[in-house]
Amino acid sequence: MPSAELRAKDSCPHCGRPVGLSRWTLLPSRDNKRILTCKACGGHFDLSNACKMASMLGGMVGMAVAVAFPFGWIIRAGHGSKLFLILGAIVVACGFCVASMTLASLALSLEARP
Ligand SMILES: [Zn+2]
Repeated sequence: MPSAELRAKDSCPHCGRPVGLSRWTLLPSRDNKRILTCKACGGHFDLSNACKMASMLGGMVGMAVAVAFPFGWIIRAGHGSKLFLILGAIVVACGFCVASMTLASLALSLEARP
């Protein structure tokens, strides 16, 4: 059994091979019963709870920062027009996704699931 330091963060908890996580997997999921499957060995796994929490926290911080800064600027620049409101919402969603993925990838660890 290789030590935790030597294993890649995205290695399968069953066979140790990289599972090739999609960035989207790192986003907070409402689905608590979600189970991911390793393509190499077919073993089931999911993100660790610490990683899920980091993802959630990162998303909230990213959203708060996006609402505090670029969203306000965009709304002011567009004088409240609908197009700029949509643009602002997209920027906030991007802030959420980027910060969430970043924090989750920093805290990334995988846990075996039955
Ligand atoms: Zn595997």
